[in-house]
Amino acid sequence: MSDSVHYERAREHLEALGLNAALSELDGVLDSAAREERAPAWVLDQLLTSERASRFERRVNANLKLSGIPNRKTLDEFDYDAQPGVPKRVVDELATLRFVRDGHNVLILGPTGVGKTHLAIGLALKAIEHGHRTYFLTLHDLVNKVRLAREKNRLHVLHATLQRADVWLLDELGFQPLDRQDATFLFEAVNKRYAAGKSTIITSNKSYGQWHEIFPDPVLAVALLDRLLHHSTVLNIRGDSYRQRHRKSAGLPSLQGAKPEPEELRGANM
Ligand code: ADP
Ligand code: MG
Repeated sequence: MSDSVHYERAREHLEALGLNAALSELDGVLDSAAREERAPAWVLDQLLTSERASRFERRVNANLKLSGIPNRKTLDEFDYDAQPGVPKRVVDELATLRFVRDGHNVLILGPTGVGKTHLAIGLALKAIEHGHRTYFLTLHDLVNKVRLAREKNRLHVLHATLQRADVWLLDELGFQPLDRQDATFLFEAVNKRYAAGKSTIITSNKSYGQWHEIFPDPVLAVALLDRLLHHSTVLNIRGDSYRQRHRKSAGLPSLQGAKPEPEELRGANM
C-alpha cells in the first residue's frame, strides 16, 4: 500500500473512532515529524496527547456547566490584604486539592460579606479545572430540591446526584432553619459522603455553637458536625464585610441599617 493510502486510512480511523482532536492535528504533526526527523512513536505521542487534552477540556467545560456555580469567582481574585482573617497559606494548601483526594471537608464560617462564597467557589473551580465533578447548591436550593424530590418520591435520585459529585459545595447553611425532614436529608447526604470519603465544602454564617438554632434537633446538629469535622479544614473568618469596607474607604456612607442582611449578624462574630 502506498503512503497516501495509509494516510487516508489513518484519517478514516481517527474519524470513525471520534478522535477529532488527533484528526485535526494529524497533518501538522506529520509535517513536523518529517521536517524534524521524528520517530513514529513521537507522532503517536503528539496525537494522543492532543486528544487527551481536548477530552479533558471538554470534560472540564461539561463539569463547569453542570456544577451550578453561579459566578466564576477565582482564588486569584481574592484580596488577602483586604481580609486578614483569611490565612493565605491555608487557602494555598486547599488549592492543591489534597483535601479532595483525601476526602476531607472544608468549613468556611463567618459573617456576611467576608468572602465565604467567593473562597468556596474559588476552590470548587480549582477542583473542576482538575477534572473533579463538582456540584454547587445553596441551602435554599437544596431545601427546594428536597421538597420536589419528596413529592415525586425521588429522594433516592437526589441522594445519588449528591453522591456522584467529587466535591459538593453547600452554600449558606444557617440562612434558614431546617425542618426535621430537610435536616434529616442533609444529615444523610453528608453521612453518605463521609462514609464514601468524599469532600464537602460548607459555608455558614453561624458558628458551631449556633448550629442547634438551624436544626430542629440538637442531636442531628451534633451528629452532622461530628461527620463534617472528623477530617476537615475550618476557615473561621472574623472580619468586616468586603463591600462595606470598600464603601468606607471610598468615603461612601455605610449601608448597614439601610438594608438589613438576610440575617442579623453583628452579634454572630466567631
Ligand atoms: P459571603 O459569602 O461571606 O457573604 P461573598 O463571598 O459573597 O461573601 O463576598 C461578597 C462580595 O465581596 C463578592 O462579590 C466577593 O467576590 C467580594 N469579596 C469578598 N471578600 C473579598 C476579598 N477578600 N477579595 C476580593 N473580593 C472579595
Ligand atoms: Mg455567601
